[in-house]
Amino acid sequence: MDLNHLWQNVQEELKISVSQTTYQGMLAQTALLDLKENIATIGCPNPYLRDLVENRYYSLIKEVLDRQTKEKNSLVFTIDQKLSIIKKTKKNLGPLFKKNSPVQKQLVDPAFGLLPNYNFTTFVVGSANNFAHAAAQAIVKNPGQTYNPFFVWGGVGVGKTHLIHAIGNAIAQGNNDFKILYVSAETFTNELVDALQKKTITKFKNKYRKCDCLLVDDIQFIAGKEYSQEEFFHTFNALYLSGRQVVLTSDRKPEEIPKVEDRLISRFMGGLTVDIQPPDYEMRLAIIKQKAQERNFSLPEEVFRFLAETIESNIRELEGALFKLMIKAQSNKSPVDLEFAQNFFGSFKKRTQRVTPKIVLSRTAKHFSFKTKELCGKSRKSELVIARHIAIYLLRKDLDLPLMKIGDLIGGRDHTSIMYAIDKIEQEYSNNQSLRNNINQIRNSLQF
Ligand code: ADP
Ligand code: MG
Repeated sequence: MDLNHLWQNVQEELKISVSQTTYQGMLAQTALLDLKENIATIGCPNPYLRDLVENRYYSLIKEVLDRQTKEKNSLVFTIDQKLSIIKKTKKNLGPLFKKNSPVQKQLVDPAFGLLPNYNFTTFVVGSANNFAHAAAQAIVKNPGQTYNPFFVWGGVGVGKTHLIHAIGNAIAQGNNDFKILYVSAETFTNELVDALQKKTITKFKNKYRKCDCLLVDDIQFIAGKEYSQEEFFHTFNALYLSGRQVVLTSDRKPEEIPKVEDRLISRFMGGLTVDIQPPDYEMRLAIIKQKAQERNFSLPEEVFRFLAETIESNIRELEGALFKLMIKAQSNKSPVDLEFAQNFFGSFKKRTQRVTPKIVLSRTAKHFSFKTKELCGKSRKSELVIARHIAIYLLRKDLDLPLMKIGDLIGGRDHTSIMYAIDKIEQEYSNNQSLRNNINQIRNSLQF
């Protein structure tokens, strides 16, 4: 099968696995440039899309590609500028989409960093989040003038990221001339470190201090990072004092974030602080139906109920289960009924429970005949360093762990050494076959 044909088949599956806007805005713009020795090189039109697609859809694309090729592949994402020209002229989305599916009214500048499908239309409102939702709507009507800053906190997967993007998208729709910036606190920190190294701090300051609305996700990430806090404090003041809107999310209340200066905490608390609670059954059911509808995927009511009842922990997992069910149903070409879902879901649960960070560490150590303790220790022996870098790479790429968490797991290292390790593996990946073999073998043993 030639590359184009193979990629077309992969794309057909991707189309039904994500919402139309995500597909159109991201995945449809990619191309398979090369596939040799189980390394698939995937081209993206610009660095922004490359990072988004790689961070969010690595495992989805890999899963579909592995099935299509009946092989275990690794993916490398690169930039191919030719793509930005070709894909713009492609309009036909194929028969999988209903003509009347909701679409964005107006395209938002990609530089804002906003995900188009995280908007208010797709945000389900219930008892767990109605206060946060109402406050968000008020902010959209009068950015900078009602609640500033707006601080949203809550546990994993309760919809904080969705809501903050929805605020950004709605403000962008209503204010053509507004410059909006969505950023995770992790990216803010990384860009700051980078700007200091490259001596581009003025550019950094301009970027953050000259926007009309700054949306910072997971602000708790700046805990313990003095320089980031200092810079964020000044950014915040510059924006706040000139009436620009600041929206922050966090996994806990402002006063409970450890190792953050008091002056920042009091800034965070100076506007409106709201929480989002874990959704109850009714809300989980509504959300899972919404997610299926976004993908034009229909399921019997009893299957929706079964999913909403069984997966209580968080919505991301619930969504993951739905998506895997869709892919499975597609490849089996059979309708999904309750029995199918029950059988399938049993095995899905077992699998996700099996691969933990601990297992990644112990398998990687074993692969190189080291002990996990040595892998996480201080020795700089070259073989050990490579093994350590690979473990870090897998924890980031396959388990999607935050840099700080990986640092903690690998013997208390800071996030810059974790970033360095990931960069190092990424740089060598395409040219170093033995490295790829090692990674593939470990991945196989983990069944990624
Ligand atoms: P958090 O940032 O709080 O960890 P996210 O915003 O990433 O959570 O939400 C996880 C997933 O659940 C996303 O796909 C999001 O769209 C979905 N989700 C969460 N809450 C809602 C909601 N109220 N309506 C629709 N989707 C939701
Ligand atoms: Mg989030």
